[in-house]
Amino acid sequence: MLNKTARWSLACAFALALASALCIPAQAQTYPAKPITVIVPFAGGGPTDTVARLVASAMAKDLGVPVNVDNIGGAGGTLGSSRAAKAVPDGYTLLLNHMGHVTAPFLYSKLPYDPIADFAPIGRVADVPMTLVARKNMAARNFPELLAWLRSNGKKVNYSHAGLGAVSHLCGLLLMKATGVEMTAVAYKGTGPAMTDLLSGQIDLMCDQTTNTEAQIKAGNIKVYAVTTRTRLASMKDVPTLAESGLKNFELTAWHGLYAPKGTPAAVVDRLSHSLQKALQDPALVQRFAELDAQAAKASDATPQALAAWQKTERDRWGPIITAAGVHAE
Ligand code: ASP
Repeated sequence: MLNKTARWSLACAFALALASALCIPAQAQTYPAKPITVIVPFAGGGPTDTVARLVASAMAKDLGVPVNVDNIGGAGGTLGSSRAAKAVPDGYTLLLNHMGHVTAPFLYSKLPYDPIADFAPIGRVADVPMTLVARKNMAARNFPELLAWLRSNGKKVNYSHAGLGAVSHLCGLLLMKATGVEMTAVAYKGTGPAMTDLLSGQIDLMCDQTTNTEAQIKAGNIKVYAVTTRTRLASMKDVPTLAESGLKNFELTAWHGLYAPKGTPAAVVDRLSHSLQKALQDPALVQRFAELDAQAAKASDATPQALAAWQKTERDRWGPIITAAGVHAE
């Protein structure tokens, strides 16, 4: 026979279990009830930040709460991603990263999180072409002249990127491999601040998304030598692809994904995924993406399942390339 205290404890434990079981769907039903934070693992003003802010403001309209962006740059995006991996999985802290999310394990031997196992994918966000750009006073008039200049200057060339594993870093690796030129890499917390130094002429060269370079190219503040996509961009018809410029098979398009920490209730992830799909059709976002040459993900790709499959494909594609390049970070 249980005494009175034991009966009381048992009743309490049962009541608690029942309450928490009932609470999960209730939480999903009332979600979101307060502002959401989207961690961008790069500095403000750069391409990932630009995409995140456009998506966040469109999602806020649908979700009915503010969606704020928090820039936590450093270590090629791994600092911010690590913070997101350890956040409370309640749908109020998310991560918007680019493809570096899945390539980081090939570069960092001591990554404090697993980009696949520690996250619940929400959906693919956008694909963004990249451009090879240089300071305005670069004398080379075209890619062959730039290549000749790179070959004669080698290590004297300053090449900026957003840290090991950033997509600008991956682009640089491919470029150095394809041209056989070793440049001096200068790391930033994001290519937003790197652009400032390119504009001032402190940096010679950068490979970055059109979401950061397009406006500066059009304003004549920097020079563009090539695009990294398979075909030329409609908005820059006279700019050749790297592949047609002699770097055979060179192709790199940056993609972005939205994630929640692992353990976020499935109903919350679904709600966010539907909101993302809606946001990607928001007229203001569509117009701005078009101006920046960014391609919003199709609704069928902005789903947890599609992003889960895509990130594995990309991991398998980039792993051998990075391993062959022999680059590591601690
Ligand atoms: N474009 C950057 C990169 O190279 C990141 C950023 O600042 O958005 O990965």
